[in-house]
Amino acid sequence: MKRLTFTFDNGPWPGATELLLDFLAERSIKATFFVVGQRLQEPGGIELARRAHAEGHWIGNHTLTHTKPLGEDGGLARVEREIGETQRLIGELSHPSRFFRPNGGGAVGRHLLSTDALSYLESNRYSVVTWTSAPGDWIAPHRPWLAKGIGELDDTDWTLLVLHDRFIAPMLDTLDAFLHELARRGIEIVQELPPACIVIRDGVLTGDKTTFSLADEPGRQAATP
Ligand SMILES: [Zn+2]
Repeated sequence: MKRLTFTFDNGPWPGATELLLDFLAERSIKATFFVVGQRLQEPGGIELARRAHAEGHWIGNHTLTHTKPLGEDGGLARVEREIGETQRLIGELSHPSRFFRPNGGGAVGRHLLSTDALSYLESNRYSVVTWTSAPGDWIAPHRPWLAKGIGELDDTDWTLLVLHDRFIAPMLDTLDAFLHELARRGIEIVQELPPACIVIRDGVLTGDKTTFSLADEPGRQAATP
C-alpha cells in the first residue's frame, strides 16, 4: 500500500498553526512540524509548538533564521547558531531522534549543507530529514499546489510532503481535497518518516552525502537492516 507523511515547515505561525492543528485533530492525522527557532521566540510561538507536541505531532528543527541555506553560508559558528540555538529553544519538545531539516527553497541538493554543517549534525547525533514533494503552497497564487501535489504522488511509493502552516491554513479546503484524493487512491497517511528521506539517522550517515551537502567524496550506503 502506498503511504504519505505530512510535514509542515517554517512555523509556528500564530493565527495559522491553530487552524491547521484543529483541522488535523478533527481527522486524527499526525504530522511533523519543522519549526524555525526565531518563530518560537515570537509571541505565541512556543505555546503553539507545545500544543502541537501535546496533540501527538513531532517537532523538528528547521534552523534559527531560515535565511541562506547552510551550504551557501555554513561556517561552524553559523551552523552552531542556526542548529544548536534552535535545538535549545525546542528543548524537551524535540523528537528523541533530533530531526533537523535544512532549508533550501524547495529543492534537495548540494546547497543544503556545508561540510561543517554535515560534521556538526553527525557529531551531535541529529537525524537529517529531506523530502520527496514540495509542491509550492508558498508560491502565489498558492492554490495550484494541489494539482502539483497530486501529480507528484506518482513519483514514489512513500511521499514525504512539505507544506507550510502559514500558507496552507488560509486554504484548508485544498488540503481537504488532497485528503479525498489520497483516500480515493487508497494511500495511507502515516506519521513515520520514509527511511529514504532520513539521510543521517541519529548521527549516522545513511544516504549519499554528495546529493545533499558539499562533501565531495561519494557517500557510503549503510546496509539496511
Ligand atoms: Zn523551510
